[in-house]
Amino acid sequence: MTKCPVCGVKLGKKIPEFCNICGWDTGEDFTLSPGLYQPDEEDRLRYIRRLDNAKKNWSYRIKLEKKLAEKPKEVIKEVIVEKFVEKEVIREVVIEKIEEQSNPQTNMVLVEKGKNEAGVMEASYYIGKYQVTQKEYKDVMGYNPSSFEDCENHPVEQVTWYDALEYCNKLSKRDGYKVAYSITKIARRGNNITKAKVIIKDGANGYRLLSSNEWEYAARGGNKSKNYKYSGSNNIDEVAWYYENSGNQTYPVGVKKENELGIYDMSGNVWEWCFDTINVSSRVLRGGSWCYGAYGCGVDYVLDGNPGGRRGSVGFRYARTK
Ligand SMILES: [Zn+2]
Repeated sequence: MTKCPVCGVKLGKKIPEFCNICGWDTGEDFTLSPGLYQPDEEDRLRYIRRLDNAKKNWSYRIKLEKKLAEKPKEVIKEVIVEKFVEKEVIREVVIEKIEEQSNPQTNMVLVEKGKNEAGVMEASYYIGKYQVTQKEYKDVMGYNPSSFEDCENHPVEQVTWYDALEYCNKLSKRDGYKVAYSITKIARRGNNITKAKVIIKDGANGYRLLSSNEWEYAARGGNKSKNYKYSGSNNIDEVAWYYENSGNQTYPVGVKKENELGIYDMSGNVWEWCFDTINVSSRVLRGGSWCYGAYGCGVDYVLDGNPGGRRGSVGFRYARTK
């Protein structure tokens, strides 16, 4: 019986074009069909190098999968951080973990009042543990505007500031809270709201955007702050997907290390809309993104954006008053 020279699985009588366990190109492997092709010395050397590489990759993959399977879920994240290059193997594990936590009401962290470098916070509030994902957005809004398509657990992007408010209101209605915003005189381009009149409702207990100050207070770890430069660490690679390590894409939320309060991705992945105005025509963005430099991921960095504009690097997270 012929065996795959890379992973060792039995190939059967009729040798397939590719090994369906490890993907080795069996059709190109002259040792599996002797007599069909007479390789010269150069072919033989090239073949040995290729086989060697494939074997190495295969054994690495087996080892990694074993390591992931053995670890409890919390520890898996550390493996992921070390080995983020092994995206395909890892993504399945991450997605599984995030799926388990898909109930938004359990996905909030209480930020207790107190003080840190951001200043004094007079009142406690709840904050989303993760950036709003594409799946969550689609479940509530009925469509997914994101540039990175079919990445359910990646943060949603291509949302305007107004879209973020509309999402908060719809989520409040779904979960039985009083909506936080009155949104009228709405103008749309496609699904996106590009202009509207927004008024904060008195006495609302629903989901809302964070103020810029609430964002920074939470990003700095609230009253448990260790005064890191980025949210949860001084080592940016530990906590953020940004220009240098993202490979030009977003990542599933909650992969990198959490901050002092157990909140993920406050540095990097996508920028987060905050409620505050900088001037008449712009709103605050915080936290940096996959296509921005390290400095943008700093807990003190503030960027401004056109509230009716949308980008593949801008999303949001929600909050709720306690
Ligand atoms: Zn194989």
